[in-house]
Amino acid sequence: MLIDTYGRAATDLRVSLTDRCNLRCTYCMPEEGLQWLAKPDLLTDDEIVRLVRIAVTALGVTEVRFTGGEPLLRPGLVSIVERCAALLPRPRLSLTTNGIGLERTAHALAAAGLDRVNVSLDTLRPDVFHTLTRRKRHQDVLDGLAAARAAGLTPVKVNAVLMPGLNADEAPDLLAWAVGNDYELRFIEQMPLDAQHGWKRDGMITAEDILASLRTRFRLTPEGGDERGSAPAERWLVDGGPARVGVIASVTRPFCAACDRTRLTADGQIRTCLFAREESDLRGVLRSGAPDEEIADFWRRATWGKKAGSGLDDPAFLQPRRPMSAIGG
Ligand code: SAM
Ligand code: SF4
Repeated sequence: MLIDTYGRAATDLRVSLTDRCNLRCTYCMPEEGLQWLAKPDLLTDDEIVRLVRIAVTALGVTEVRFTGGEPLLRPGLVSIVERCAALLPRPRLSLTTNGIGLERTAHALAAAGLDRVNVSLDTLRPDVFHTLTRRKRHQDVLDGLAAARAAGLTPVKVNAVLMPGLNADEAPDLLAWAVGNDYELRFIEQMPLDAQHGWKRDGMITAEDILASLRTRFRLTPEGGDERGSAPAERWLVDGGPARVGVIASVTRPFCAACDRTRLTADGQIRTCLFAREESDLRGVLRSGAPDEEIADFWRRATWGKKAGSGLDDPAFLQPRRPMSAIGG
Protein backbone atom coordinates (compact mmCIF):
# COMPACT_ATOMS: atom_id res chain seq x y z
CA MET A 1 0.00 0.00 0.00
CA LEU A 2 0.95 3.65 -0.38
CA ILE A 3 0.72 4.82 3.23
CA ASP A 4 1.92 8.13 4.68
CA THR A 5 2.96 9.07 8.19
CA TYR A 6 -0.57 10.33 8.94
CA GLY A 7 -2.03 6.90 8.18
CA ARG A 8 -3.69 7.82 4.90
CA ALA A 9 -3.63 5.27 2.05
CA ALA A 10 -3.31 6.57 -1.50
CA THR A 11 -5.59 4.37 -3.61
CA ASP A 12 -6.55 6.93 -6.27
CA LEU A 13 -3.88 7.51 -8.93
CA ARG A 14 -4.07 10.51 -11.27
CA VAL A 15 -1.96 10.00 -14.37
CA SER A 16 -1.19 12.99 -16.54
CA LEU A 17 -0.77 11.93 -20.17
CA THR A 18 0.39 15.26 -21.57
CA ASP A 19 0.91 18.85 -20.47
CA ARG A 20 -0.39 20.20 -23.81
CA CYS A 21 -3.85 21.57 -24.34
CA ASN A 22 -6.09 22.90 -27.09
CA LEU A 23 -7.84 25.39 -24.78
CA ARG A 24 -6.38 28.24 -22.77
CA CYS A 25 -8.68 28.49 -19.73
CA THR A 26 -7.81 31.74 -17.99
CA TYR A 27 -7.60 30.07 -14.55
CA CYS A 28 -5.13 27.52 -15.90
CA MET A 29 -2.93 28.76 -18.76
CA PRO A 30 -1.75 31.99 -20.34
CA GLU A 31 -3.00 32.87 -23.82
CA GLU A 32 0.31 31.96 -25.47
CA GLY A 33 0.41 28.51 -23.87
CA LEU A 34 3.42 27.21 -21.97
CA GLN A 35 6.82 25.74 -22.68
CA TRP A 36 5.69 22.14 -23.35
CA LEU A 37 7.63 19.16 -22.09
CA ALA A 38 10.06 17.70 -24.64
CA LYS A 39 9.01 14.35 -26.12
CA PRO A 40 11.95 12.35 -24.69
CA ASP A 41 10.98 13.56 -21.22
CA LEU A 42 7.45 12.19 -21.49
CA LEU A 43 6.74 8.69 -20.26
CA THR A 44 6.08 6.36 -23.18
CA ASP A 45 2.84 4.36 -23.39
CA ASP A 46 4.70 1.25 -22.24
CA GLU A 47 6.21 3.09 -19.26
CA ILE A 48 2.80 4.41 -18.22
CA VAL A 49 1.19 0.99 -18.41
CA ARG A 50 4.06 -0.55 -16.45
CA LEU A 51 3.76 2.04 -13.67
CA VAL A 52 -0.02 1.63 -13.51
CA ARG A 53 0.48 -2.15 -13.32
CA ILE A 54 2.89 -1.75 -10.40
CA ALA A 55 0.47 0.65 -8.72
CA VAL A 56 -2.51 -1.71 -8.92
CA THR A 57 -0.71 -5.01 -8.32
CA ALA A 58 1.78 -3.97 -5.62
CA LEU A 59 0.63 -0.68 -4.14
CA GLY A 60 -3.11 -0.98 -3.55
CA VAL A 61 -4.26 1.54 -6.17
CA THR A 62 -7.88 0.84 -7.15
CA GLU A 63 -8.80 3.97 -9.14
CA VAL A 64 -6.88 5.36 -12.10
CA ARG A 65 -7.83 8.67 -13.65
CA PHE A 66 -6.19 9.91 -16.84
CA THR A 67 -5.81 13.64 -17.10
CA GLY A 68 -3.47 16.37 -18.35
CA GLY A 69 -3.18 18.93 -20.03
CA GLU A 70 -5.74 17.52 -22.41
CA PRO A 71 -5.54 13.71 -22.35
CA LEU A 72 -7.50 13.33 -25.61
CA LEU A 73 -4.45 14.83 -27.34
CA ARG A 74 -2.38 11.77 -26.41
CA PRO A 75 -2.26 9.56 -29.51
CA GLY A 76 -2.00 6.30 -27.54
CA LEU A 77 -4.89 7.02 -25.15
CA VAL A 78 -7.28 4.26 -26.29
CA SER A 79 -4.58 1.63 -26.19
CA ILE A 80 -3.33 2.81 -22.77
CA VAL A 81 -6.90 2.48 -21.46
CA GLU A 82 -7.28 -0.96 -23.00
CA ARG A 83 -4.04 -2.22 -21.49
CA CYS A 84 -4.87 -0.82 -18.05
CA ALA A 85 -8.35 -2.38 -18.23
CA ALA A 86 -6.71 -5.78 -18.75
CA LEU A 87 -4.79 -5.53 -15.46
CA LEU A 88 -5.70 -7.73 -12.51
CA PRO A 89 -7.01 -6.58 -10.14
CA ARG A 90 -8.77 -4.39 -12.66
CA PRO A 91 -8.69 -0.73 -11.56
CA ARG A 92 -11.65 1.57 -12.13
CA LEU A 93 -10.70 3.82 -15.04
CA SER A 94 -11.83 7.36 -15.67
CA LEU A 95 -10.79 10.38 -17.72
CA THR A 96 -10.87 14.11 -17.04
CA THR A 97 -11.15 16.00 -20.32
CA ASN A 98 -12.25 19.28 -21.80
CA GLY A 99 -14.45 17.21 -24.11
CA ILE A 100 -13.02 18.45 -27.41
CA GLY A 101 -12.77 15.42 -29.69
CA LEU A 102 -14.71 13.22 -27.28
CA GLU A 103 -17.52 12.97 -29.81
CA ARG A 104 -15.17 10.97 -32.05
CA THR A 105 -13.50 8.83 -29.36
CA ALA A 106 -16.14 8.16 -26.69
CA HIS A 107 -17.24 4.81 -28.14
CA ALA A 108 -13.67 3.59 -28.66
CA LEU A 109 -12.78 4.59 -25.11
CA ALA A 110 -15.81 2.80 -23.68
CA ALA A 111 -15.01 -0.29 -25.75
CA ALA A 112 -11.42 -0.16 -24.48
CA GLY A 113 -12.70 -0.33 -20.90
CA LEU A 114 -12.97 3.27 -19.72
CA ASP A 115 -15.66 3.43 -17.02
CA ARG A 116 -16.43 7.13 -16.70
CA VAL A 117 -15.55 10.65 -17.80
CA ASN A 118 -15.45 14.05 -16.16
CA VAL A 119 -15.90 16.78 -18.74
CA SER A 120 -15.00 20.34 -17.85
CA LEU A 121 -17.57 22.94 -18.85
CA ASP A 122 -17.86 26.23 -17.01
CA THR A 123 -20.61 27.99 -18.91
CA LEU A 124 -23.69 27.49 -21.07
CA ARG A 125 -23.00 30.71 -22.99
CA PRO A 126 -20.81 30.34 -26.10
CA ASP A 127 -19.51 33.92 -25.81
CA VAL A 128 -18.48 33.41 -22.17
CA PHE A 129 -16.88 30.08 -23.14
CA HIS A 130 -14.83 31.94 -25.73
CA THR A 131 -13.69 34.53 -23.18
CA LEU A 132 -12.93 31.91 -20.57
CA THR A 133 -11.11 29.38 -22.74
CA ARG A 134 -9.94 31.75 -25.52
CA ARG A 135 -11.29 29.27 -28.10
CA LYS A 136 -14.65 28.98 -29.92
CA ARG A 137 -15.28 25.31 -29.12
CA HIS A 138 -18.39 25.40 -26.94
CA GLN A 139 -20.48 23.19 -29.24
CA ASP A 140 -17.66 20.62 -29.45
CA VAL A 141 -17.79 20.20 -25.68
CA LEU A 142 -21.59 19.78 -25.69
CA ASP A 143 -21.26 17.20 -28.49
CA GLY A 144 -18.53 15.39 -26.57
CA LEU A 145 -20.71 15.23 -23.47
CA ALA A 146 -23.65 13.80 -25.41
CA ALA A 147 -21.37 11.20 -27.02
CA ALA A 148 -19.99 10.17 -23.62
CA ARG A 149 -23.52 9.64 -22.29
CA ALA A 150 -24.50 7.67 -25.42
CA ALA A 151 -21.38 5.51 -25.06
CA GLY A 152 -22.32 4.63 -21.48
CA LEU A 153 -19.40 6.45 -19.83
CA THR A 154 -21.72 7.15 -16.94
CA PRO A 155 -22.32 8.84 -14.63
CA VAL A 156 -21.00 11.62 -16.88
CA LYS A 157 -19.70 14.27 -14.53
CA VAL A 158 -19.27 17.92 -15.44
CA ASN A 159 -16.60 20.01 -13.70
CA ALA A 160 -17.24 23.76 -13.47
CA VAL A 161 -15.07 26.55 -12.08
CA LEU A 162 -16.85 29.85 -11.42
CA MET A 163 -15.00 33.08 -12.08
CA PRO A 164 -16.06 36.51 -10.84
CA GLY A 165 -17.42 38.75 -13.58
CA LEU A 166 -17.57 35.91 -16.09
CA ASN A 167 -19.78 32.98 -15.15
CA ALA A 168 -20.30 33.54 -11.42
CA ASP A 169 -24.04 33.96 -11.92
CA GLU A 170 -24.47 30.70 -13.82
CA ALA A 171 -24.54 28.15 -10.99
CA PRO A 172 -28.35 27.57 -11.00
CA ASP A 173 -28.54 27.52 -14.82
CA LEU A 174 -25.69 25.03 -15.02
CA LEU A 175 -27.38 22.81 -12.45
CA ALA A 176 -30.78 22.91 -14.20
CA TRP A 177 -29.07 22.04 -17.48
CA ALA A 178 -27.03 19.22 -15.92
CA VAL A 179 -30.05 17.68 -14.19
CA GLY A 180 -32.06 17.89 -17.42
CA ASN A 181 -29.30 16.12 -19.35
CA ASP A 182 -28.50 13.48 -16.75
CA TYR A 183 -25.02 14.85 -16.07
CA GLU A 184 -23.69 15.13 -12.54
CA LEU A 185 -22.39 18.63 -11.93
CA ARG A 186 -19.46 19.39 -9.60
CA PHE A 187 -18.31 22.89 -8.87
CA ILE A 188 -14.61 23.27 -8.06
CA GLU A 189 -13.29 26.27 -6.19
CA GLN A 190 -10.63 28.10 -8.16
CA MET A 191 -7.21 27.18 -6.81
CA PRO A 192 -3.85 28.96 -6.98
CA LEU A 193 -2.51 26.72 -9.72
CA ASP A 194 -2.60 29.01 -12.75
CA ALA A 195 0.64 29.51 -14.63
CA GLN A 196 0.20 33.30 -14.49
CA HIS A 197 -0.10 33.38 -10.65
CA GLY A 198 -3.23 35.52 -10.96
CA TRP A 199 -5.26 33.77 -8.24
CA LYS A 200 -6.50 35.92 -5.36
CA ARG A 201 -8.33 34.54 -2.37
CA ASP A 202 -10.37 37.74 -2.05
CA GLY A 203 -11.73 37.48 -5.55
CA MET A 204 -12.61 33.81 -5.64
CA ILE A 205 -16.12 32.35 -5.63
CA THR A 206 -16.35 30.15 -2.56
CA ALA A 207 -18.33 26.97 -1.93
CA GLU A 208 -20.54 29.02 0.35
CA ASP A 209 -21.28 31.49 -2.48
CA ILE A 210 -22.08 28.60 -4.83
CA LEU A 211 -24.41 26.87 -2.37
CA ALA A 212 -26.21 30.14 -1.62
CA SER A 213 -26.70 30.78 -5.31
CA LEU A 214 -27.99 27.23 -5.95
CA ARG A 215 -30.41 27.49 -3.03
CA THR A 216 -32.19 30.38 -4.72
CA ARG A 217 -33.62 27.77 -7.10
CA PHE A 218 -33.08 24.30 -5.60
CA ARG A 219 -33.51 22.49 -2.31
CA LEU A 220 -30.17 20.92 -1.33
CA THR A 221 -29.75 18.20 1.29
CA PRO A 222 -26.41 16.60 2.21
CA GLU A 223 -26.11 13.20 0.58
CA GLY A 224 -25.74 10.16 2.83
CA GLY A 225 -25.45 12.19 6.04
CA ASP A 226 -22.01 13.52 6.69
CA GLU A 227 -19.41 11.01 5.47
CA ARG A 228 -16.50 13.24 6.30
CA GLY A 229 -16.96 13.34 10.05
CA SER A 230 -17.05 16.93 11.15
CA ALA A 231 -16.24 18.25 7.67
CA PRO A 232 -19.02 19.78 5.61
CA ALA A 233 -20.76 17.67 2.97
CA GLU A 234 -19.32 17.61 -0.50
CA ARG A 235 -22.32 16.17 -2.37
CA TRP A 236 -25.91 17.29 -2.18
CA LEU A 237 -29.20 15.83 -3.32
CA VAL A 238 -31.06 18.24 -5.58
CA ASP A 239 -34.75 18.69 -4.68
CA GLY A 240 -34.72 15.39 -2.77
CA GLY A 241 -32.76 13.45 -5.44
CA PRO A 242 -31.89 11.31 -7.26
CA ALA A 243 -30.04 14.17 -9.01
CA ARG A 244 -26.91 15.29 -7.15
CA VAL A 245 -24.51 18.19 -7.19
CA GLY A 246 -20.98 18.32 -5.82
CA VAL A 247 -19.05 21.27 -4.47
CA ILE A 248 -15.32 20.68 -4.16
CA ALA A 249 -14.09 23.28 -1.72
CA SER A 250 -10.36 22.63 -1.88
CA VAL A 251 -9.59 26.16 -0.69
CA THR A 252 -12.23 27.02 1.91
CA ARG A 253 -12.96 23.50 3.26
CA PRO A 254 -9.88 21.42 2.50
CA PHE A 255 -10.28 17.66 2.86
CA CYS A 256 -6.57 16.85 3.21
CA ALA A 257 -7.14 14.58 6.24
CA ALA A 258 -9.12 12.22 4.00
CA CYS A 259 -6.92 12.58 0.91
CA ASP A 260 -6.41 9.29 -0.95
CA ARG A 261 -4.56 10.60 -4.03
CA THR A 262 -1.19 10.08 -5.60
CA ARG A 263 -0.16 11.71 -8.86
CA LEU A 264 2.11 10.88 -11.74
CA THR A 265 3.08 13.74 -14.05
CA ALA A 266 3.48 13.24 -17.80
CA ASP A 267 7.26 13.27 -17.28
CA GLY A 268 7.13 10.60 -14.61
CA GLN A 269 7.38 12.55 -11.37
CA ILE A 270 5.40 11.45 -8.31
CA ARG A 271 3.51 14.21 -6.55
CA THR A 272 1.81 13.45 -3.26
CA CYS A 273 -0.34 16.60 -3.42
CA LEU A 274 -1.51 19.12 -6.04
CA PHE A 275 0.16 21.80 -3.97
CA ALA A 276 3.39 19.95 -3.18
CA ARG A 277 6.60 21.78 -3.98
CA GLU A 278 8.59 18.54 -4.03
CA GLU A 279 8.42 15.76 -6.58
CA SER A 280 10.04 12.33 -6.68
CA ASP A 281 11.70 11.23 -9.89
CA LEU A 282 10.08 7.89 -10.63
CA ARG A 283 11.08 8.13 -14.29
CA GLY A 284 14.75 8.21 -13.29
CA VAL A 285 14.34 4.98 -11.30
CA LEU A 286 12.33 3.39 -14.11
CA ARG A 287 14.85 4.31 -16.79
CA SER A 288 17.77 3.12 -14.67
CA GLY A 289 16.49 -0.38 -15.35
CA ALA A 290 15.10 -0.95 -11.85
CA PRO A 291 12.94 -4.05 -11.29
CA ASP A 292 9.26 -3.64 -10.31
CA GLU A 293 9.91 -4.10 -6.60
CA GLU A 294 12.49 -1.27 -6.52
CA ILE A 295 10.07 1.03 -8.34
CA ALA A 296 7.31 0.13 -5.88
CA ASP A 297 9.64 0.80 -2.93
CA PHE A 298 10.59 4.21 -4.31
CA TRP A 299 6.89 5.11 -4.69
CA ARG A 300 6.19 3.92 -1.12
CA ARG A 301 9.01 6.05 0.27
CA ALA A 302 7.83 9.10 -1.67
CA THR A 303 4.32 8.65 -0.27
CA TRP A 304 5.57 8.25 3.29
CA GLY A 305 6.76 11.87 3.20
CA LYS A 306 3.36 13.30 2.18
CA LYS A 307 2.56 16.45 4.15
CA ALA A 308 -0.49 16.74 6.39
CA GLY A 309 -2.14 19.41 4.28
CA SER A 310 -1.94 21.63 1.24
CA GLY A 311 -0.57 24.57 3.26
CA LEU A 312 -3.01 26.94 1.53
CA ASP A 313 -3.91 28.54 4.83
CA ASP A 314 -0.31 29.15 5.78
CA PRO A 315 0.67 32.80 5.25
CA ALA A 316 3.98 31.47 3.89
CA PHE A 317 2.17 29.38 1.23
CA LEU A 318 4.03 29.31 -2.08
CA GLN A 319 2.37 28.17 -5.26
CA PRO A 320 3.97 25.02 -6.74
CA ARG A 321 6.46 25.52 -9.54
CA ARG A 322 4.26 23.65 -12.02
CA PRO A 323 0.82 24.91 -13.00
CA MET A 324 -2.28 22.69 -12.94
CA SER A 325 -1.97 21.68 -16.59
CA ALA A 326 1.55 20.32 -16.03
CA ILE A 327 0.69 18.54 -12.78
CA GLY A 328 -2.46 16.84 -13.98
CA GLY A 329 -5.66 18.13 -12.42
N1 SAM B 1 -7.89 19.49 -19.77
C1 SAM B 1 -8.72 18.65 -18.98
C2 SAM B 1 -9.90 19.40 -18.42
O1 SAM B 1 -9.92 20.62 -18.50
O2 SAM B 1 -10.79 18.73 -17.88
C3 SAM B 1 -7.98 17.95 -17.86
C4 SAM B 1 -6.97 18.73 -17.09
S1 SAM B 1 -7.62 20.11 -16.18
C5 SAM B 1 -6.15 20.74 -15.45
C6 SAM B 1 -8.49 19.27 -14.88
C7 SAM B 1 -9.50 20.10 -14.11
O3 SAM B 1 -8.79 21.10 -13.42
C8 SAM B 1 -10.53 20.81 -14.97
O4 SAM B 1 -11.81 20.48 -14.52
C9 SAM B 1 -10.23 22.28 -14.75
O5 SAM B 1 -11.41 23.05 -14.75
C10 SAM B 1 -9.60 22.25 -13.39
N2 SAM B 1 -8.72 23.40 -13.14
C11 SAM B 1 -7.72 23.88 -13.90
N3 SAM B 1 -7.14 24.95 -13.30
C12 SAM B 1 -7.81 25.12 -12.13
C13 SAM B 1 -7.68 26.05 -11.06
N4 SAM B 1 -6.76 27.02 -11.06
N5 SAM B 1 -8.52 25.93 -10.01
C14 SAM B 1 -9.47 24.95 -9.99
N6 SAM B 1 -9.63 24.04 -10.96
C15 SAM B 1 -8.81 24.14 -12.03
FE1 SF4 C 1 -6.64 22.92 -20.88
FE2 SF4 C 1 -7.97 21.73 -18.91
FE3 SF4 C 1 -6.21 23.74 -18.41
FE4 SF4 C 1 -8.49 24.32 -19.64
S1 SF4 C 1 -8.28 23.49 -17.56
S2 SF4 C 1 -6.43 25.05 -20.26
S3 SF4 C 1 -8.84 22.53 -20.83
S4 SF4 C 1 -5.72 21.76 -19.18
